[in-house]
Amino acid sequence: AQDRYASLRNLPATATCGATVQLYMNAGLMADLPSLDGSGAEGVGLFRTELQFLIRSHVPRRAELAGLYARVMDNAHGKPVIFRTLDIGSDKVLPYMKPQDEPNPAMGWRAIRVGLDKRGVLRMQLQALIRASVGRPLHVMFPFIAEIGEYQDAHRILMQELSREQRLGHPMPSDIRVGAMLETPSLAFAPKRFFEMCDFVSIGGNDLKQFFFAADRENERVRRRYDTLNVAFLAMLRQIIARCEEARVPLSFCGEDAGRPIEALVFAALGIRRLSMRPASIGPVKHLIRRVSLSELRAVIDEAEAQGLTSVRGPVTAWLARQ
Ligand code: PEP
Ligand code: MG
Repeated sequence: AQDRYASLRNLPATATCGATVQLYMNAGLMADLPSLDGSGAEGVGLFRTELQFLIRSHVPRRAELAGLYARVMDNAHGKPVIFRTLDIGSDKVLPYMKPQDEPNPAMGWRAIRVGLDKRGVLRMQLQALIRASVGRPLHVMFPFIAEIGEYQDAHRILMQELSREQRLGHPMPSDIRVGAMLETPSLAFAPKRFFEMCDFVSIGGNDLKQFFFAADRENERVRRRYDTLNVAFLAMLRQIIARCEEARVPLSFCGEDAGRPIEALVFAALGIRRLSMRPASIGPVKHLIRRVSLSELRAVIDEAEAQGLTSVRGPVTAWLARQ
């Protein structure tokens, strides 16, 4: 299927109205990296680092991780790679970690909550990332931030590790970009200072949607019950877009919905101009963006919302059929 879109590989995802959407890919293993050139992605918008921890029977050592992260960046050939720090807990249980037996793991001790409570692991991972980025830019993203304090703490730990490396006389990354994943509705309402502290924000739509609708993403009975194009969810996205624009912080969307063509178009029309998705989705999404006017689509969405519909999917699909 990728070949059908091969001719688009080096073309930008520019809509007929002139707006351009940057398309990045999601990854988690070294084996994913060849897709970067194959798909024409502008970089890795989400590198899920927990996969490296999940496939081992022991906690990886710092040197091991640094070597791995350096190889990931080498294989990205200068394109940016956004490393998300460990998102374990919930559905991702490490073989060498004591199972927590939580009644509700998705809302339990996971991701940055584990990182801030067990700082040794987070510090070790950050040291590995810093050492892997010598002479090149480092992009770090903290997952599952629910309030500004968690971001401030994680950010401070990263800054401490950077000064420690510097004190030790180690060579440094050429640039540091730090961001947060917005995966809980609470973060959309954080103080403006939070957005101003971020070099970028990325919407983790899988989790954001599960918490917004209170519908477990792992539960077959409810996971498809609510439409991503439900006007209530779009209102949440508009809130996030407005907050990021106000603070002039770049915003992306990296959940699975970013790779679904109609959803991708709607996100882009609302103003999310960076999408990160599985590599195979880049061709189809780019193909569609290049055929339409996002400003016209924006008017279709606004009109559907003004009519009081539950979801904009019907009118958007009908409009798309006319293009
Ligand atoms: C998300 O929640 O949308 C996301 C990208 O992270 P994950 O799927 O790994 O939870
Ligand atoms: Mg998530």
